[in-house]
Amino acid sequence: MSLESMAERTAELFARCFGHAPRWIVAAPGRVNVIGEHTDYNDGFVLPMAIERYTVIAGDRNDSREVTLHSVTTGETATFNVREPLTRGEPSWSNYVRGVVAGFQQRPIKVPGFDAVIASTVPFGGGLSSSAALEVATATLLEAITGEKLEPIEKALLCQKAEHEFAGVPCGIMDQFTSILARENHALLLDCRSRTTIPVAMTDPSITVLMINTNVRHKLADGEYAKRRSQCQTAASALKVPFLRDASAKALKAGRSKMEPIAFRRARHVISENERTREAAWAIQAADWATVGRLMYASHDSLRDDYEVSCQELDVMVDLAKPIRGVFGARMTGGGFGGCTINLVAVEAVGEFTQTIRNGYAQATGKKSGVFICSAADGAERVQ
Ligand code: ADP
Ligand code: MG
Repeated sequence: MSLESMAERTAELFARCFGHAPRWIVAAPGRVNVIGEHTDYNDGFVLPMAIERYTVIAGDRNDSREVTLHSVTTGETATFNVREPLTRGEPSWSNYVRGVVAGFQQRPIKVPGFDAVIASTVPFGGGLSSSAALEVATATLLEAITGEKLEPIEKALLCQKAEHEFAGVPCGIMDQFTSILARENHALLLDCRSRTTIPVAMTDPSITVLMINTNVRHKLADGEYAKRRSQCQTAASALKVPFLRDASAKALKAGRSKMEPIAFRRARHVISENERTREAAWAIQAADWATVGRLMYASHDSLRDDYEVSCQELDVMVDLAKPIRGVFGARMTGGGFGGCTINLVAVEAVGEFTQTIRNGYAQATGKKSGVFICSAADGAERVQ
């Protein structure tokens, strides 16, 4: 569905819920990470792009101090009062909105009561960051309501803080930065330490980025994420650097005996992934798709063997993609243990690719897959 028709439908729903047309409509995109996985919390590099899947909010202020939110996606309505201090509450998804409102109040920017309808084409928990899209759309709506425009970096950090403190998810900065700063036809090389971004043009019309959803998410993901973070910290300490970002492959080799084999392998993934990510940015710029593809496969292997965050379904997807003619590269994307793979495919091969993957995945796992094309989209905007 196009952004225009999404905006139109959300406005209609708003009118049905609240009896008048919304004053504002905002949109924030989901994102995919082309390469640079599990590097963000090691102060490293990531290379995401925003996709044409959006969270759209239609909203208007009201004359009270009450906020009323209706999510089309969950079919639920949430209400809370903007009198401080704002706290976590039910339904749980309202915490992403509460957190962003709290961030504005802490500036301090006075937030009035408002009504909103939220709709989204970003699937939940599929690794496309519906959570950041919801936070960033909320922040964009609050900018419109309060007339206070935030600096993009400040806005991203406010949204990240909302996710940390109100949703209890210790995420990095990639998702929020991408949903705000992304540019059409560009990926974004983001240095998670300096928080600087370099747009990387991705305009070759002969190439398609395809996402495939495995439609699985294994439960162990959250606990394993925390474990990986602490293993990385252990490896960094053994190498006497603040973060693995500061260690080279050579230093790791020299320090191998100073750490457990498992910490060594985790560090080897992070250090090599940082190198691959910067190399991929150059290769994309040069439209050298063979190199980008090679780096994607190497990233997947490293995530599977050294970082151990892949799963059977993701491995099946990548193995199915590899031998298909016109496929340059494939890898798992997102935190792992399910979710999506990202695939770089020549335009003329897309039809055969989709068929082969659908059939092959169903045969190997008995499960359905979801394939969709992604083009690099702009960051959050006010539609009306
Ligand atoms: P991801 O960000 O990868 O999609 P998360 O678990 O981080 O997965 O975030 C998903 C959560 O975000 C959902 O469970 C829900 O609470 C919230 N969310 C995202 N979009 C919406 C929406 N349109 N309406 C209500 N809740 C939403
Ligand atoms: Mg998320």
